[in-house]
Amino acid sequence: MKYSVIGCGASGMTTAISAVRSGIRPSDITVYEASDKCGRKILATGNGRCNLGNELLEPGMFYSESGDVSKFTGDIISRVSISDIKDFFETLGIITVSKNGYLYPRSMQALTVTEALKNECTELGIIIDTSCVCTGIVRSGAGFELTVNGKKKYSDVVVLSCGLGSGGFGIKNADIFAVLDDLGIKYIKPLPALCGLDVSDDMRTVKGVRAPGRVSLYVSDKFCAADEGELQFTEKAVSGIPVFQISRMAGRALNKGEKCTLFLDLLSEYDETMVMDIIEDRIRRFSKREMYFAFNGILNNKLMSYIMKRSGISDKDIAGSLDEASKKRFAGCLKGLKFNVKNIQAADKAQTMSGGVDLSVIGGGMEIKDIPGLYVTGELIDVDGKCGGYNLYLAWATGLICGRSLKR
Ligand SMILES: Cc1cc2nc3c(=O)[nH]c(=O)nc-3n(C[C@H](O)[C@H](O)[C@H](O)COP(=O)(O)OP(=O)(O)OC[C@H]3O[C@@H](n4cnc5c(N)ncnc54)[C@H](O)[C@@H]3O)c2cc1C
Repeated sequence: MKYSVIGCGASGMTTAISAVRSGIRPSDITVYEASDKCGRKILATGNGRCNLGNELLEPGMFYSESGDVSKFTGDIISRVSISDIKDFFETLGIITVSKNGYLYPRSMQALTVTEALKNECTELGIIIDTSCVCTGIVRSGAGFELTVNGKKKYSDVVVLSCGLGSGGFGIKNADIFAVLDDLGIKYIKPLPALCGLDVSDDMRTVKGVRAPGRVSLYVSDKFCAADEGELQFTEKAVSGIPVFQISRMAGRALNKGEKCTLFLDLLSEYDETMVMDIIEDRIRRFSKREMYFAFNGILNNKLMSYIMKRSGISDKDIAGSLDEASKKRFAGCLKGLKFNVKNIQAADKAQTMSGGVDLSVIGGGMEIKDIPGLYVTGELIDVDGKCGGYNLYLAWATGLICGRSLKR
């Protein structure tokens, strides 16, 4: 039997290792990798530290556009627990540590994770062909004919572990959709997820600012989702983990032509009345100061000046001269700074993609139900996890399950 794994990323390497550990001869497996190195995306994960899983593992941490995500991920979790992930890494020599439930290699280096996976593949004798792009897969007898770097190759079994191109790693994924179309595999159009959102305002003055706060997303003026944490501002985008967490909903809504609005609460620990009390108190105590100095020390100074501007106030205005309407606008902006979302950021700025191969066509062993011998793993599956180790968990877990189910 000849087995081909397309993609030598997190899920591809895990699939190959799991297959050999389940009894498949390593020399029967070839992993084709488009780029010249394996596991390049892993190096970028968790800011170079690789947040490889999360101890709070439940179906509610995952989304899908195509099917019953709770059933699909519940089934995966029941077969690959977070202890199984720790054990898997232990077998590779990686000690995992938990930081408030977020799992990392003890080395705090993503590099050590990539190297451990690569080394295990090499020691097991798995063949890895880098700089090999698969551009075609058609059914051929009981197996498949692959086109790799323009050459035809036969394989009895094919595992698609090629991701959806998030983070700008890998090749343009247009090829993989042509492949899915040719094979008649149902998929949901992928869109970036876990990324910033481009807004219509000019934010040059707050570029690079980070501040704690709560972001709420409204779709067609209805509340959709919210998250809290460190917000980040770029020239054109609102970003940071809380924005990442709601970005997939915004991306999907924008794709349907729906209006998306963000409201940032930059004083989320205070309610509206308390914010108004703070404003009144500062104006009373520092009535002769310029607004900039009267409100100094509450927020990042650039952000505070920006909020004042958005409230129709100059940071040079004298605090005591503020009228009631300005105070209300100011309080409103501090508790709900509004942004119209123009776009979701591009795939190369995203940590994952929503969409992918439709859950209804994937069997328990990650095999495509109507195409025996063809499997899918990782990001290519229409499940995207929240930020916090959930996407790598999916890559490892689907790889482990797939590898085990290859042995018939
Ligand atoms: C910046 C960044 C930070 C992240 N941080 C985290 C984190 O801390 N925790 C977390 O859980 N997740 C994180 N993720 C998400 C995580 O990296 C992905 O979910 C995971 O890598 C998906 O694994 P995969 O094997 O399915 O796909 P990939 O890792 O994308 O691997 C697919 C491989 O297939 C190759 N390939 C593609 N097409 C072809 C082809 N036609 N022929 C041959 N080879 C092909 C690609 O070159 C690539 O190497 C992050 C992502 C990014 C971009």
